[in-house]
Amino acid sequence: MKCSIQGCPGQYETKLIVHTVKSGADILVFENVPAEVCNVCSDMLLPPQTVEHLEALMTRRTKPQRFAPLYEYI
Ligand SMILES: [Zn+2]
Repeated sequence: MKCSIQGCPGQYETKLIVHTVKSGADILVFENVPAEVCNVCSDMLLPPQTVEHLEALMTRRTKPQRFAPLYEYI
């Protein structure tokens, strides 16, 4: 699929990404999330089925598999 960013000649490719979601004071990190990523400008789209699956994971709030270090930029 062609990139939706105006003037970008790239194509979206399915890649597994790390996706973070802010949920109130929490930051949730999801690894190996299937997304469409442009091979030129890195624009990223989450397919509807990926969004649904993420929402299901967030609703269930099961115990995380791992914990990630979190750093403030400043
Ligand atoms: Zn692009």
